[in-house]
Amino acid sequence: MELIDTHTHLDFPDFDADRQALMAESRALGVRRMVVLGVYQGNWQRVWERVQSDPDLYAAFGLHPVYLNDHRPEDLSELGDWLTRLAGHRQLCAVGEIGLDYFIETLDRERQQALFDAQLQLAADFNLPALIHVRRSHAAVIATLKRFKLKRAGIIHAFAGSKEEAREYIKLGFKLGLGGAATWPQALRMHRVLAELPLDAVVLETDAPDMAPAMFPGQRNSPAHLPAICAALADIMAITPEQLAVASTANACELFNWS
Ligand SMILES: [Zn+2]
Repeated sequence: MELIDTHTHLDFPDFDADRQALMAESRALGVRRMVVLGVYQGNWQRVWERVQSDPDLYAAFGLHPVYLNDHRPEDLSELGDWLTRLAGHRQLCAVGEIGLDYFIETLDRERQQALFDAQLQLAADFNLPALIHVRRSHAAVIATLKRFKLKRAGIIHAFAGSKEEAREYIKLGFKLGLGGAATWPQALRMHRVLAELPLDAVVLETDAPDMAPAMFPGQRNSPAHLPAICAALADIMAITPEQLAVASTANACELFNWS
């Protein structure tokens, strides 16, 4: 069983003590390829060094909305410089993590929108998929994506929306990232949505070190938890873990142009 973790923050210091051991463990469990997402200018170099140290890691670069007040105006043009410099590199896979966060009320929505638009334009210009953070902002994100109509679309990270929202994203060509959040028994609406999602629209992710699944409550999340997450989600979807593994891996490979 081969799995792809489409959303990690493996560069975070949370993993400094045991990163190599953890990657070996994940690989032994079938989690081979992993995407590491940059979230602010200060961590892009760290992400890239980490990714270059391992052929199974892939990098995305972006300015995360949660760090809105840390981003400087020149960070956007620097993001363009990074994408230009790495264009065509096999380990550059996307623009992300970008998006809109309406959950944190102190984040200015207009500035978030301007930053999101500018980065979607970069995704379009460099013909890269976009990896998108959405919190309490589905309507705004869907409206934005309808304006951009990205050719390669991307992934809605940690999808937790309604059936109707899922349908909108799928129509726009996006995959829905599923991970630990949906494994919790309290996530009842999500369980109903999951049971109806078309298999060709889902990819798996951990968001490690965040979003621990119900099986490992309160723990640091890691790609080594992905097989257990896959099994729990497959159960909710009334399919076998193998079916979900095969479909989600094929979907991720198609999105990122991996063979
Ligand atoms: Zn993330």
